[in-house]
Amino acid sequence: MPKTSKTGKNNKNIKYIFVVGGVMSGVGKGITASSIALLLKTRGLAVTAIKIDPYINVDAGTMNPTEHGEVFVLKDGLETDQDMGNYERFLGQDLPAINYMTTGSVYLAVIEKERNLMYQGKNVEVVPDIPLEVISRIRLAGLEAGSDVVMIEVGGTVGEYQNILFLEAIRMMKSEQPDDVITVMVSYLPVPGSIGEMKTKPTQTAVRSLNSAGVFADVIIARSSSEVDEKRKEKIARFCNVRKDCVISAPDVASIYDIPFNFEKEELSTKLCQLLKLKPKAIDLTAWKKFVQNTKKTKGEVKIAVVGKYFNSGDFVLLDVYLSVLEAIKYSAYSLHLTPKIVYLSAVDFTDKKQCEKLKDYAGVLIPGGFGETGIPGKLNVIKYVREEGIPYFGICYGMQLAVIEYARNVAKLTDAHTAEINPNSTHLVVDVMPEQRELIKKNQLGGTMRLGEYRANIKKGTQAENAYKKDSIIERHRHRYEVNPEYIATLEQAGMVFSGISPDGRLMEIAELPKSVHPFFVGVQFHPELIARPLSPHPLFTAFIKATSLYQANKSIEKVKKTVAKT
Ligand code: GLN
Repeated sequence: MPKTSKTGKNNKNIKYIFVVGGVMSGVGKGITASSIALLLKTRGLAVTAIKIDPYINVDAGTMNPTEHGEVFVLKDGLETDQDMGNYERFLGQDLPAINYMTTGSVYLAVIEKERNLMYQGKNVEVVPDIPLEVISRIRLAGLEAGSDVVMIEVGGTVGEYQNILFLEAIRMMKSEQPDDVITVMVSYLPVPGSIGEMKTKPTQTAVRSLNSAGVFADVIIARSSSEVDEKRKEKIARFCNVRKDCVISAPDVASIYDIPFNFEKEELSTKLCQLLKLKPKAIDLTAWKKFVQNTKKTKGEVKIAVVGKYFNSGDFVLLDVYLSVLEAIKYSAYSLHLTPKIVYLSAVDFTDKKQCEKLKDYAGVLIPGGFGETGIPGKLNVIKYVREEGIPYFGICYGMQLAVIEYARNVAKLTDAHTAEINPNSTHLVVDVMPEQRELIKKNQLGGTMRLGEYRANIKKGTQAENAYKKDSIIERHRHRYEVNPEYIATLEQAGMVFSGISPDGRLMEIAELPKSVHPFFVGVQFHPELIARPLSPHPLFTAFIKATSLYQANKSIEKVKKTVAKT
């Protein structure tokens, strides 16, 4: 008997779409999966999305951002890949921890089950027990979410040794439920500069490699720099065993938000529904269309500096590390009919006040989350400068902790104020390790042990926070080990800092700000609001920040006009 979910759906009527990559990574598999999920959702289907990462790490939390980009934290605290963020943003839905797995997490679960005698004495084997664990998680995710369709993105590229067990899971599921499982391959068609012609051969090879794992593509998303013509569609269809109308042209686009429309030009959602024998309602992309229109037609620009620790990878700078922050800025700006001009500035360059003067050109400064020592003096210089100059400031996590340190040093005159993360010997540890974290650090238990996921906070009346949220209580996602030291709250408050968001037990400071009477917008948050900002529901704090930047920019230009008039 198939298990039945709360909503009455059972395994028999849930459909599964696997998304795999061909030829090479980095061609938009995650955005493809997210766009398909959005299209199916707007056809009235209940959709959930799963990401499988092939590495041994149990989650993404311990990985260096240079290796893996941003760590996206789910509401229940799992540290995952940034694709989970793309799914949540495109679907406008929170996703639970069961929707993310890695080779490491699957093996760990199988080994723990074996240790607990849950295999009842039988030989536990890589095949079938690993793919069976994968399949049981996929089915459970579908059941728990009450889904009609489960999207599953398999990380990496077919042909890699690493994802072979996941392909085996697809093969096994397909052989059990042939009408309910399809595979979409996102492939890449290069146009070598020397010949200027789009080549299909790498895709043919990738499909062969997929086939050798016993999995057959039903749809090929043909990614390339330009449209794939009919001749090449025919060729791919012939050599890759797919219907010609299931070869979908997916040229590069200026904005990822256009991709759902491009897919619909090729009637992708209808084709997927046909393959899965689903009869959903007609597509309704009205809300998405409105959002995309807002991104294209705005009243003007706001120039925002994001001061961070930028990572070089060879000759390239990786911006993925702050992906959700950048997206959150955009959603709020677009909702206010503004185009954000985001400039990435490296914290290490702000060695003194003179360097900080270039911030005069910006309407606002944001310092995102971070760890460790690099760039800290520069970030503190930046915060002092924007606080004194009245430039709107938004500090996230580390960006809040550093704002508290700067205020303690320069306003409350605790000159060596610091965080225990950097200088545990400072006399004034205004940011200290959370007591429950102390033991974990001692034992080196660092994976998945920060304060993670959703926590509630109460909002103080009459503050910037209340003005933004229009609520007296909020729930936000966290990822930190350190906190504002409760011993310094009174001193900081006497010096003028306002703690406008506090945990319900009164112990943890969740938002620190300066009153509007002294600064137009100076707000730091211990949590990560960017993780819940969505295209169709921008985050209220980001929106308040962008409003402040646009006001600041307008006032600045009025002052400029006044000065010029006075001179003439
Ligand atoms: N490093 C700080 C802490 O662990 C801030 C973390 C963050 O910005 N995500 O508390």
